[in-house]
Amino acid sequence: MKGKIIVVSAPSGTGKSTVIGHLMQRPELRLEFSISATSRKPRGAEQDGREYYFLTPEEFRRRVDTGEFVEWEEVYAGTCYGTLVSEVERVTGSGHNLIMDVDVKGAMNIKKHFGDQALTIFILPPSMEELENRLRSRNTDTEESIAKRLEKADFEMSFADRFDIRIINDSLDDAVEASAKAIKDFAK
Ligand code: ADP
Ligand code: 5GP
Repeated sequence: MKGKIIVVSAPSGTGKSTVIGHLMQRPELRLEFSISATSRKPRGAEQDGREYYFLTPEEFRRRVDTGEFVEWEEVYAGTCYGTLVSEVERVTGSGHNLIMDVDVKGAMNIKKHFGDQALTIFILPPSMEELENRLRSRNTDTEESIAKRLEKADFEMSFADRFDIRIINDSLDDAVEASAKAIKDFAK
């Protein structure tokens, strides 16, 4: 049987990667992470082929031109991210459910492309103040990058209603539990 697609979006700093990390530890969900391509440089301990396929801006553009992406977006000015066709086929073809971390526009495009095969989940921060706290405490972004991410957050929040479900990441355990239940119901 072909696997399903789970799309997770949230303003940067909400805790989406943390939630996804916990979901991935539940074997009953049969999740495999979709590794996106990006034109940004690795951050902290990130490794090529693990968090992202890190491409130069030129290589990213070349792959856009040769039609290798299901979707791609310039998420931040000058920085592109995209989902490779090969990545979707590799995972869903093996019967696993593909979990994706994409921006809000990418999520809408994936839903349009895959319809009922995809479940879109929007994760909300408890408040904008807490979002800023989390971005700072993560200790991975420059002031400039934090400002860019906060500036984008209001725009991203305006998409929340267009997702299949919304989950608030206040208590991490509750957010993981609610997400796991939604995925189990969807992918059974
Ligand atoms: P995102 O992937 O959405 O950009 P991260 O998963 O990197 O966000 O989380 C941002 C920061 O917030 C990290 O330092 C993480 O440990 C912390 N965090 C995640 N979820 C919670 C939560 N429920 N309560 C408090 N801190 C959290
Ligand atoms: P970060 O630089 O914090 O890792 O990610 C920045 C943003 O890029 C996040 O909002 C994330 O959801 C988005 N993103 C990551 N991969 C993709 C992708 O393949 N496609 C799209 N459209 N957005 C992505």
